[in-house]
Amino acid sequence: MTTTLIDNIGLLVTHDEERPEIAGAAVLIDNGVVAWSGEAHLAPAADERVDASGGCVIPGFVDSHSHLIFAGDRSDEFEARMAGRRYEAGGIRRTVRLTREASDEQLLANATRLVAEARAQGTTTIEIKSGYGLSVADEQRSVRLASTLTNEVTFLGAHVVPEGVDRDSYVDLVTGEMLAACAPYARWIDVFCETGAFTVDESRRILESGIAAGLGARVHAGQLGESAGVQLAVEVGAASVDHCTFLSPADIAALVGSDTVATLLPGVEFSTRQPWPDARRLIDAGVTVALASDCNPGSSFTTSMPLMVALAVRDMGMTPAEALWSATAGGAAALRRDDVGHLRIGARAHLAILDAPSYVHLAYRPGVPLVKSVIDR
Ligand SMILES: [Zn+2]
Repeated sequence: MTTTLIDNIGLLVTHDEERPEIAGAAVLIDNGVVAWSGEAHLAPAADERVDASGGCVIPGFVDSHSHLIFAGDRSDEFEARMAGRRYEAGGIRRTVRLTREASDEQLLANATRLVAEARAQGTTTIEIKSGYGLSVADEQRSVRLASTLTNEVTFLGAHVVPEGVDRDSYVDLVTGEMLAACAPYARWIDVFCETGAFTVDESRRILESGIAAGLGARVHAGQLGESAGVQLAVEVGAASVDHCTFLSPADIAALVGSDTVATLLPGVEFSTRQPWPDARRLIDAGVTVALASDCNPGSSFTTSMPLMVALAVRDMGMTPAEALWSATAGGAAALRRDDVGHLRIGARAHLAILDAPSYVHLAYRPGVPLVKSVIDR
C-alpha cells in the first residue's frame, strides 16, 4: 500500500479540538487513513505527492439527508411556487407514480448520476432514503438500489400514505411486512411527521417498530409548522431530526443535551420560499446542528453542499466555520459516524481540495465550483 502526501495546502481544516485549522500544511494518507498532518516543512516522506496548489483542504462533506431513488421531474411545481403557490407535501405522490413505472436500471442510473454530481462538489458520504415506492416491492427495490451506492440507507416507507390506501392499514404495512422486507438493506428508519403525512402517534409506532428491527431512528419534523415530532425524535433517541424550520422553546429545550442532532435543510427553504431555519438560535442554545441537501425532485433538487454552506452563512446566522463544521462533522454526528466529517489522525481520508485559499470562499463565492478535486479512497 502506497502512502500519499497532500502537500502545499494553504489552509487545512482538521476539526481537531487543539488544532482545528493549520496554515501552510500537509497531510499524509496511509492505507486510506489520515496518518499525519502538520506544517508542510515537517512532512514525512511518502510514495506519492499531491500538490494542493495553496488551496484549502476540508473534510469531505457528509450529506446526511437525501432522497435519490426516484424518477421524473417536478420543475413545473417549482415554477408555480416561484409564481406564488404554496408548498404542500402531496406532490410526493406524483413522484411515487413515476418511480413505480421506472425500471431498476433507470432508477439506479439517475441516482448514480446524482451521487457523482454530489461527489464533484465535495460530498464523500451521502445518506439515501427510500420513500417513493410506498409498496412492499417498490420500497424494497428502493432500499436495495440505494444500498449499492451507500452504506447509509434509510427506509422511509412512512413518507406519505399512498393514494387509495387506508391510513391504519398502511401504518400496519409499514411496521410489518414492508419493514421486514426493507430492514436487511437499511441502517435507518425515518418518518415524515407533519401535517399531510403522519401524526405523532403514528410516527412513534413506526419508529419503535424500526428500532425493534435493529434500525436507528431519524425523523422529518418542523418543516411546515411547529411539530411534536421534534420532541418525539428526542424521546425515541433518534440520531437526527431534520428540517427544524419551526421550533418551539420546548423543542429546543428537548434537543439541548440530547443525542439528537438538528439537521437543517436550507435547500428546501430556498426552493419553497419558506422562512429560513434559525441556526443561530439552535447553536446558541447548545444544540448540535448539521446541514444537509435533502436532495429530492420536489422541494430541493440540489446536491450542492457548498450551496447549503452559503445559504446557512447568508441567511441562517451561521459563521463560515460553523457552517463548514455542520456540513461535515455535523452530518457525521447525524449519522453517528466518527470516522468521517473530520481530518484528525485516524480519520478516513475523505477530503476535498478547494480552488480557494479558505473555506470562507464557499459562502463568499456562492455558485462557483470551488471543489478542485476529491479524495475518498
Ligand atoms: Zn427529506
